Amino acid sequence: MDIKNNILNFQRKLPETVTLIAVSKTKSPELIKEAYNAGHRNFGENKAQELTAKATQLPDDIHWHMIGHLQRNKVRQIIDFVHMIHSVDSEKLLKEINKRAKNANRVVDCLLQVHIADEEAKFGWDSNELLEFLNNKNIVAFSNIRIKGLMGMATLTDEKDKIKAEFHFLSQLKEKIAAMVTSENVEMNELSTGMSADYEIALEEGSTMVRVGTTIFGEREDIWKP
Ligand SMILES: *Cc1c(COP(=O)(O)O)cnc(C)c1O
Repeated sequence: MDIKNNILNFQRKLPETVTLIAVSKTKSPELIKEAYNAGHRNFGENKAQELTAKATQLPDDIHWHMIGHLQRNKVRQIIDFVHMIHSVDSEKLLKEINKRAKNANRVVDCLLQVHIADEEAKFGWDSNELLEFLNNKNIVAFSNIRIKGLMGMATLTDEKDKIKAEFHFLSQLKEKIAAMVTSENVEMNELSTGMSADYEIALEEGSTMVRVGTTIFGEREDIWKP
């Protein structure tokens, strides 16, 4: 894999306003360094321990994005290292992040993950429950959290129309929330959608952050573990 070339090629395909998150899960710090040396700074990890291990041994100016399901008891581990948490899927997690962020004396950028796929297995808020939550809770009280937008994963399918409809739904939901919620710590500018297989559709539907692993680093075969 020519990681540097893959990064530069991908970057060229994206509008300037879209952030490329290079998903480096299972990949070694050496491989991440290749992307870093190509000038890349935004990386995505899906396990708390792996994110922390890599953050402590790679340069400080990397922005680490937590994109995988996050257990509450792992929040403390990542709080000093994480730039943005894409996978906030419950009020309990939001509370825990807020508490740990307060202790660490920082404000953490978060995305609310919404369940938009057919599959049962994918995590995320039900859209109606999320609207109800945002309507009824005093979000401003989560003063060490800044909600920057929404994240979602489409159904794993070849049906482009279905994927498009799911991303479209999420994009509409983001606009709805933006119009409805006035808390100063809710911004709704970001939409984290699209992976190697479906990022083009995601871009058509307003993605501002694409999370791309395989196209940059290759298949996940040799698994690096902290
Ligand atoms: C692994 C992963 C990706 C990247 O998937 P690729 O198909 O390798 O591009 C994106 N988002 C999440 C949440 C992931 O876990």
